Amino acid sequence: MSDDIKNKIEQLRNKINEYSDAYYNKDNPEVSDYEYDILYRQLRDLEEQFPEFAVNNSPTKKVGGQASEQFSPVIHRVRMDSLRDVFSYEEVIAFFENLKREYKDIDFIVEPKIDGLSCSLEYENGLLVRGSTRGNGDVGEDVTLNLKTIKSIPQEIDFKNDNLEVRGEVYMRKAVFDDLVKEQLERGTDPFKNPRNAAAGSLRQKDSKITAKRKLDIFIFNVQSVTGMSFDTHAEALEKLKDLGFSIVPNYKKCSTKDEIIDSIEKIGDMRSSLAFDIDGAVVKVNDLHLREELGATAKFPRWAVAFKYKPEEKETKILDIEINVGRTGALTPTAILEPVFISGSTVSRAVLHNEDYIKSRRLQIGDRVTIRKAGEIIPEIVSNLDYNENKDYFEYPKICPSCSAPVVRDENMSAVRCENISCPSRLLYNITHFCEKNAMDIEGMGEQTVKLLIDNNLIKSPADIYALKEEDLINLEGFGEKSAKNLISAIEKSKSKDLASFINALGINYVGEKAAKIIAENLESMDKLKSATTEQLLQIDGIGQITAESIVKFFSLPENRNLISKLESYGLNMSYEKTISSEKLSGLKFVITGKLPTYSRDEMKNLIEKNGGKVSNSVSKKTDYVIIGDDAGSKEKKADELGVKKMNESEFLEMLS
Ligand code: NAD
Repeated sequence: MSDDIKNKIEQLRNKINEYSDAYYNKDNPEVSDYEYDILYRQLRDLEEQFPEFAVNNSPTKKVGGQASEQFSPVIHRVRMDSLRDVFSYEEVIAFFENLKREYKDIDFIVEPKIDGLSCSLEYENGLLVRGSTRGNGDVGEDVTLNLKTIKSIPQEIDFKNDNLEVRGEVYMRKAVFDDLVKEQLERGTDPFKNPRNAAAGSLRQKDSKITAKRKLDIFIFNVQSVTGMSFDTHAEALEKLKDLGFSIVPNYKKCSTKDEIIDSIEKIGDMRSSLAFDIDGAVVKVNDLHLREELGATAKFPRWAVAFKYKPEEKETKILDIEINVGRTGALTPTAILEPVFISGSTVSRAVLHNEDYIKSRRLQIGDRVTIRKAGEIIPEIVSNLDYNENKDYFEYPKICPSCSAPVVRDENMSAVRCENISCPSRLLYNITHFCEKNAMDIEGMGEQTVKLLIDNNLIKSPADIYALKEEDLINLEGFGEKSAKNLISAIEKSKSKDLASFINALGINYVGEKAAKIIAENLESMDKLKSATTEQLLQIDGIGQITAESIVKFFSLPENRNLISKLESYGLNMSYEKTISSEKLSGLKFVITGKLPTYSRDEMKNLIEKNGGKVSNSVSKKTDYVIIGDDAGSKEKKADELGVKKMNESEFLEMLS
């Protein structure tokens, strides 16, 4: 039980760290904020419940990302904390009541939580001298030149004899974001996913001319430090900043009761879609700055504030059509074409429907009225079907592939529907590239780029066409010359004698990878037997389970695939298994290979050992007879020494074999 919890906590930490890296450091989130927040809360709750598994470098104890080495580091004089998120009014009220109990006259400021990135601006004698990102809260990135391109940041303020550091949120207006995405799509570059990432990606540029073009803005929401002046309250500080020419956080409201706080949060939430910029919540802050000092902070958050996060915005629209596309791997993916609707900062006209079960459970059909939301403001999804009725018709998947018309197959376990035709045009590039890979037909020179070139020039429409290629077909293609054409043709020729296991792997049958292909080849020994094998016969093979067996039978039931195999046979490809054991010299011996060998690759060495009756395993144990050591061998060599297992280098091994 405790191991399960520990593993779960570790898994959550790894996932959250991975997502944070994509979000903070690469400005390219992999999941929605909503999904991230759910994982984060799971981790926080588990760590609270099981403090024995808490660690100091957990993402629940760290702020933001790492300062990139692209920029000079800035050590923040005043730490730039994060905020504690809350997701319900109960949590806001608990925050209020806890403080109210101790401090009777306390009041709060509620303000919009701007969705951008946090920056600090430092002014000396009235001049902007330095600007930086938050980074990990202690160390940020020096982006002074970039910040200076933002028009709403004053370069000079009327504060001649003193110093001031303020903190604000750099953001991109929704309209600017829309224009930028249009321009990126026209240019064929990947567009930013939302205004926050666009703001972060635009500010963290090496070339400040690019930042200038991105028309960023800022709202200032805090005085970090000041000399020659003091404030008693947050509201007073904000008003002073406004007088100095700063663009301060708008729509802030002073509140003294819990009802006023909730009301302000609601009002800000109602404004959300009409604002010119994205917000992702409302911040409730203690107004009295002396009390803030007294309350202090945890490792990550101030104790005097919470951020209420709004649920993703939902809008109503209509399904105009359902489009089915065939993915690279043959899976049919449905997409709803929607009546365009503006939501969370951009116009949405498509939503993913995932699979047949998803459609069935929501009884979705063309013409239905649905509510949609952007999952974490990124990928639009359908929340509910307003025309739902348990007995109504729903969209039925096509029975044939929309791309090649071969009958499609439903994968019961994965609720996916696939086109299993290996020559289907939608899967062709993926399939043929896989067909030619090293652990498949091993055709040197047939990487993805070459395969694409051959498909684009109508030279191949199925894997069989590879074997009809001639030097003269290739010679005039871009990147080919006489020599490379000759080399490719001879690599294709050579592949005809590849072993049966590699050939089975090359076919890309669902669930049949390198290992399963090897087991099948060793047991059935010919393509003929495999083609006609029943599920029951396949299940007799040790290592082949129900899903794999069914998948194989489905694959060979398709006339397109059977024809392909016949064609490949007519080109002379090897269709039978040859017992490759050439000697029994190493029979009964167990080897481990480690490090880089001088002439053999690890795979070649493994084959050589197996051909001579030996076995190869990945880890050294007392049962290991020999460890073959190459350059830069690491822990396995050490383990061999500890256990007293015999070591040898490549030439000693070859000597033993001869
Ligand atoms: P946060 O963004 O939720 O809150 C803290 C920030 O709010 C501060 O840094 C501040 O700059 C900003 N802010 C905006 N307006 C403010 C105002 N008026 N007053 C005070 N602060 C204001 O916290 P965080 O730690 O930076 O990020 C956590 C959030 O980021 C998560 O809740 C998640 O939604 C998102 N995130 C998403 C992913 C992902 O993969 N999608 C990954 C990591 C983080």
